[in-house]
Amino acid sequence: MATAIAQISSVNPATEEVLARFDAFTAEEVDRAVDEAHDAYRAWRERALKERAVPMRRLAALLRERSDRYARLITLEMGKPISEANAELEKCALGAEHYADNAARYLDDLVIPTNAKRSLVAFEPLGVVLAVMPWNFPFWQVIRFAAPALMAGNAAVLKHASNVPQCALAIEEAVRDAGFPEGLLRTILVAGAQVEPLIADDRIRAVTLTGSSVTGARIAELAGRALKKSVLELGGSDPFIVLADADLDAAATVGARARNQNTGQSCIAAKRFIAVDTVAPDFERRFAVAVEALKIGDPIDAATQIGPLARADLRDALERQVEESVRLGARVLTGGERAPGKGYFYKPTVLADVTEDMPVFKEETFGPVAAVLRVRDADHAVRVANDSAYGLGASLWTRDTALGEALARKIESGSVFINGMVASDPRLPFGGVKRSGYGRELSSFGIHEFVNIQTIWIGPAQSPTPAPQAE
Ligand code: NAP
Repeated sequence: MATAIAQISSVNPATEEVLARFDAFTAEEVDRAVDEAHDAYRAWRERALKERAVPMRRLAALLRERSDRYARLITLEMGKPISEANAELEKCALGAEHYADNAARYLDDLVIPTNAKRSLVAFEPLGVVLAVMPWNFPFWQVIRFAAPALMAGNAAVLKHASNVPQCALAIEEAVRDAGFPEGLLRTILVAGAQVEPLIADDRIRAVTLTGSSVTGARIAELAGRALKKSVLELGGSDPFIVLADADLDAAATVGARARNQNTGQSCIAAKRFIAVDTVAPDFERRFAVAVEALKIGDPIDAATQIGPLARADLRDALERQVEESVRLGARVLTGGERAPGKGYFYKPTVLADVTEDMPVFKEETFGPVAAVLRVRDADHAVRVANDSAYGLGASLWTRDTALGEALARKIESGSVFINGMVASDPRLPFGGVKRSGYGRELSSFGIHEFVNIQTIWIGPAQSPTPAPQAE
């Protein structure tokens, strides 16, 4: 009997209709893709940074030119409201331009005076990096990794999430059309666990994952066994702290956006709203009004703000978290149930009276569900914010920005935004602590993750001490 070929399906989460089916790559096809990336790397690493910037700028231009087509693909495959899909592509273009403009500066040799005639630190590429990526920002997550990694002279093998195969192929197409060497970024269509053996492959020099903490632990384990560098951008349960002197209107309006952007499916979405007792009732009221006003519907409609969740299992998981939390005493201010009809829709939800033992507090909620807790004061707010397995972002609202900065340093997270929503910016490092992962993307920190930080010492020694010691 012939072995059935595994299939990767693209399903429209708004209609549940199958859009396309692809045969998963065979082991031979994966092998060929890795070989191609490896060959492309050898020639690419010899190119000067100025030359590498040419296709990177062209990629930015192509993403803008094809914005309508690619945005539609994002919306159809994973349900992101179309206005946000267009914004995602613009962000990708800006990210590519950032590294085209700044990579040479970020990777400039660092001359360090020692007893050598000349000693310096050079930043050389590592080779082929395996990128395991999620579906929630299907273009941005890939560009966020690929723009710095390619500019540093590396190649990439992309294993994208199985529910966005068309986006995965479109990214490969855009990179090819931008004029990068053939094979420099190769997409492989395989299911999650199938990619595991690749981590030990000698041609793969490092691995990066954006995804859940469970997958992160598995990839870290395999990378550790193979002694490969890894960067992990994982889940989050970001606190959104509202202090007694906060601008409540702004906090409620921005909070509704920070929770519900991308239909709540963002690792840096605000998830746990922690409000000081004196203003909590007022904040809850305004926040629930702002959330209730969000327009849920067909994501291809430009006016839609809340689309479906990307997969049926994600909606089921969210539904369980809400039901269990309500059973434990959470109060539904708005939403609290799936929307009727076809598609994986869930109503934007605000839960009040949340306590630290509830799933909506302890677990990451990956959808439009906000948990609101009350606390005594600022110190209590920080303690509750830190009472989480995660540590990705945090937002803090106060008119006293000096106090805000002092409190920010006590919050265990990769970033803290005061009087604003957490967002990524190519100029600033992005990443987490605790179960949100390790390593950083974006800025100069991101481009230094996938390089060999190479010391070059050129003699003869100019003085007897301090001489380099043989180890
Ligand atoms: P997931 O299951 O971890 O999937 C992410 C990627 O890992 C997919 O490409 C998936 O492939 C792959 N994968 C799954 N199991 C694997 C394995 N054993 N070995 C190698 N690869 C494997 O995540 P998800 O639940 O779909 O996505 C949501 C999660 O990602 C949330 O927790 C969210 O917070 C996190 N996330 C984090 C960030 C960040 O920047 N920190 C950004 C976005 C999302 P398949 O699709 O084929 O299973």
